[in-house]
Amino acid sequence: MALTYITNGNIVLPDSIVCGKALAFDSDSGKICGLVDSVPAGADTIDAEGCFVAPGLVDIHIHGYLGEDASDGSAEGIKKMAYGIAQNGVTAFLPTTMTVAKKQIEAALNAVRSLKEESKTWGGAEIIGVHAEGPFINPSKKGAQAEENILKPDADFILENADIIKYVTLAPEMDEGHCCIKKLASQSDVLISMGHTDAKFEEAVQAAKDGVSHATHLFNAMSALAHRNPGVVGAALTSDNVSVEVIADTFHINPGLYSMVAKLKGDKMVLITDCTRAGGMPDGEYELGGQPIFLKGIECRLADGTIAGSVLKLNDAVKNVINHTDLPVYEVFKMASLNPANAIHCSERIGSLEEGKDADIIITDKDINVKRTIKKGKTIYEA
Ligand SMILES: [Zn+2]
Repeated sequence: MALTYITNGNIVLPDSIVCGKALAFDSDSGKICGLVDSVPAGADTIDAEGCFVAPGLVDIHIHGYLGEDASDGSAEGIKKMAYGIAQNGVTAFLPTTMTVAKKQIEAALNAVRSLKEESKTWGGAEIIGVHAEGPFINPSKKGAQAEENILKPDADFILENADIIKYVTLAPEMDEGHCCIKKLASQSDVLISMGHTDAKFEEAVQAAKDGVSHATHLFNAMSALAHRNPGVVGAALTSDNVSVEVIADTFHINPGLYSMVAKLKGDKMVLITDCTRAGGMPDGEYELGGQPIFLKGIECRLADGTIAGSVLKLNDAVKNVINHTDLPVYEVFKMASLNPANAIHCSERIGSLEEGKDADIIITDKDINVKRTIKKGKTIYEA
């Protein structure tokens, strides 16, 4: 045992913020030991200097960062992403593929496979698996996904790769009889999410009964909520088993809706970045899923003006929701840690500062600027 104590912090737990105690973790086992009232003389300490001591963030929808994109299929590139987002407080993530050619998706899956084990101990965020966003989507809601690569939902493709695919986004209305959804739900624990979908409300509600339990970037690229046609948005908000993603960059959806989603979904609200390779880069032209995209400020668009992913950092998503709601700070941190960990069935090990879980810990100031990122008890980033 090599215990380290984080002192002088506002410790962010799932249901409260605790002051006046220290958080102990074992840097040998990489596990959290819990809260203590006093620190033994001579012990290793980290002084949090009044900052938040929060769980490492978990991003389950991120395509790229620092010029790299998971769909490129480059192991070097994905590793660079993992190290880059550790500076934003992310300790675990799902590199996310786009609707690109199937061969290209397979190359990306192989690249992630080759890194998964190494990522547990490297100095970047850990790779939990892949989020396959498409190619099983509706052309009419393709957003920035390339139409020529869209395929009919195919459960076997996902099942054959279920060692690495942890999450798939599909359009339920493209899946006749919801055969793919039902097969995946009965034969795997892959998170099935409705996204890039034009389904009617009734169909989306049925999909949620058939195995869908998540909604990909709620409001964006899905049938909208209207009073006579509540759409996928209405189905996602009213189906209790469905968790929902929000891109809280203040641009993808009006920030006035953050509190509404939180009220309706509670612990099933998940913050994601949907970040592209333009993340962490200067304004200019980049590429997403084979199409040119143009970054200006916080906005990423195709040439025709279609919104094309984001350049959001997950710690800034937490800050934006804190700033635009009256929610307790611990609830907002949870949206980027425990809630996504729950969605991908990893919350037994990560997602909160609870005894026995991985010592994935971040220290941030009140504006959620990351001062230090600790993964499995090792500091992997210090500002
Ligand atoms: Zn995306």
